[in-house]
Amino acid sequence: EPLLLVEDLEVQREGNVILKGLDIKVNRGEVVGVLGRNGAGKSTLAYSIMGLPQYAPSKGRVIFEGQDVTDWSITDRARAGITLAWQHPARYEGITVGEYLSLSRKDLGRQELLEALSLVQLEGAYLDRRVDKALSGGERKRIELASVYLMRPKLAILDEPDSGVDLLALVEIMELFRRMVREGSSVLIITHREDVAAQCNRSYLICRGHVILEGSAEAVKRYFMSQCEPCSDSSPDLV
Ligand code: ADP
Ligand code: MG
Ligand code: MG
Repeated sequence: EPLLLVEDLEVQREGNVILKGLDIKVNRGEVVGVLGRNGAGKSTLAYSIMGLPQYAPSKGRVIFEGQDVTDWSITDRARAGITLAWQHPARYEGITVGEYLSLSRKDLGRQELLEALSLVQLEGAYLDRRVDKALSGGERKRIELASVYLMRPKLAILDEPDSGVDLLALVEIMELFRRMVREGSSVLIITHREDVAAQCNRSYLICRGHVILEGSAEAVKRYFMSQCEPCSDSSPDLV
């Protein structure tokens, strides 16, 4: 049984059909990529799987561990083991990074917090920093990734984990995801970067709200680079 099954998903926003007839699946232990140009509908897919009310599907289903969660709240999906790392991390202004990371799971010791920080290349001194404007976008991004790691979700959805001002190297991010898989998570990576998708076990290429190719990450990368022009034509702000 797949961990996540998205079936025939249709999502509308303000009268526009953003996702249509979209099918994807994530098996346990997989790192799956969803690759698409800016405007293809990637973030919409992430929000819909997480259950944001404004992204409730007009058609189709989201199945998690065999249960139809299409009508479940964000909270219930989070309890079931789905976590979304936001493209722009939510702000927990004022609390320390250590306190923020401790929200991830009960009974986390200092050693585990330090280890999580080291996985995202941050020094232990960050535990006492405050989550405030003094943190750079890149630092917030790393802290968010550390927090997702500590949550040990069954399914981690990462929307553009590589974006941000001071990037973690791709190898470091992929090493973190592979470590998450070794510790029992499955990972859905949403990205516009074909080099990121190429590092996944399997990828989907989406264009104008539906899957146009599914296959090995390398095949999707090749197709994206050679044939994905019609997609970009419709996207004024393509990357
Ligand atoms: P991606 O993450 O792949 O860049 P998005 O999911 O953010 O794509 O957006 C997909 C499409 O949906 C885009 O054409 C965008 O303009 C449109 N869209 C996103 N949010 C809204 C909204 N709130 N209202 C109307 N259209 C939206
Ligand atoms: Mg976008
Ligand atoms: Mg997006």
